[in-house]
Amino acid sequence: MSLLVQKYGGTSVATIERIKQVAAKVCAAKQAGNDLVVVVSAMAGETNRLIALANQIAEIPDEREKDVLLASGEQVSVALLSLALKELGQPARSYLGHQVRIETDNAYGKAHIRNIDSTKIVESLKNGEIVVVAGFQGVDEDDNITTLGRGGSDTSAVALAAFLNAAACEIYTDVEGVFTTDPGICPNARKLARISYDEMIEMASTGAKVLEIRSVVFAKKYSVPVHVRSTFSGAEGTWVVDEEASMNDVLVSGVACDKNDAKITLQRVPDRPGLAAQIFGPIADAHIVVDMIIQNASEDGTTDLTFTVPKADHKKALAIVEKTAPAVQAKGVKVDTDIAKVSVVGVGMRTHAGVAATWRCGCCTTRSSRNRLMYEGRFALRYDFARRLPGGGCLLHSGGQAAHRREARRIGYRLYRRWIPGLQPAGRGFF
Ligand code: ADP
Ligand code: ASP
Ligand code: MG
Repeated sequence: MSLLVQKYGGTSVATIERIKQVAAKVCAAKQAGNDLVVVVSAMAGETNRLIALANQIAEIPDEREKDVLLASGEQVSVALLSLALKELGQPARSYLGHQVRIETDNAYGKAHIRNIDSTKIVESLKNGEIVVVAGFQGVDEDDNITTLGRGGSDTSAVALAAFLNAAACEIYTDVEGVFTTDPGICPNARKLARISYDEMIEMASTGAKVLEIRSVVFAKKYSVPVHVRSTFSGAEGTWVVDEEASMNDVLVSGVACDKNDAKITLQRVPDRPGLAAQIFGPIADAHIVVDMIIQNASEDGTTDLTFTVPKADHKKALAIVEKTAPAVQAKGVKVDTDIAKVSVVGVGMRTHAGVAATWRCGCCTTRSSRNRLMYEGRFALRYDFARRLPGGGCLLHSGGQAAHRREARRIGYRLYRRWIPGLQPAGRGFF
């Protein structure tokens, strides 16, 4: 008998009808001879609804209380799924994060799992019960409820699979697997049969929300095979696994787009050693993740320092930077929430030259004539594995007039669509 961890996302448990379908699917896996730990997310839209409630009370809501609020979404789901399983005659038991106990640090809203005490789960499994665990939540050492960050149920599932030494972690969602790019935006995207942990980490960190990034980092660290598949079909999905030799033959395995970042620029800062530590230290202390960092040195010895942070954190980051700005003698601070990041991902790029050149050709075609300025005005591009690319690097454009913004977004999407149909998910070459 093997142990499987299954995770069902928000759309999979969006209605009572769907919860009943999930219960039937879980029962079938149990009857096939598996022990099952099932992780569920809040019903679709619920976490957003709860966040909006908190935002109606405070501009920056108290983080501890916000986590208590957000964790309630998953509490509803575990109870409903356990009820549905019992209705089918299947013994089941729901557990919240603090009951399991899923121990985290105290970084509210983005807590890291430190340890899982699996005693109760093991006991339930021995009693023939299906264990239903609330995703996205844990408890810190002082018994405060914490949440793991958006999409965090994926991390709960993979962490449980790692701690319980499960045969696999199945992530059930509303698409049939990991595609070359978001199938919701690009209908021509193709499903990948297998993708390496490293590529999946890059895809996830650059906007492919099909798996939350930390879940993949966890999976890699503990070698948990992850199978991303559809709740609504029996089709084989995508396996996220260790890198295989054949993966190096594929230059690009996917393209990701992220609209959830904001860009902050410190203008004309006198350039001197230690500057970055002075600016990024307080941001790190506030547990804000900085993604892209661009520094343009000018001849007068000053530098524009631009970086991106999650949109959800930009107000907090801005408040911190505005405090640091006078100390580093910045001439001003600018923030821009109207950006997107497009990334090309593939382990094959490490060993093949010329990807950046091709990318650039792609850009040139679409950046020609009047589109050029608008495009440059609003889009942040990033070459993943840039350090290894000849002439590669990050481009982060600023400026652009307000009137161009809508147009730039439209062009960005056109660009995005245009690149993807030609991508080869497996085999030779790309574009
Ligand atoms: P769940 O609620 O099940 O956790 P999510 O909405 O978090 O589901 O993730 C699934 C969504 O991820 C899909 O509906 C799809 O639009 C989006 N997505 C983005 N990039 C990709 C990709 N490369 N492959 C598959 N899905 C992707
Ligand atoms: N309910 C949480 C969210 O919407 C966690 C998850 O769905 O994984 O982000
Ligand atoms: Mg998700």
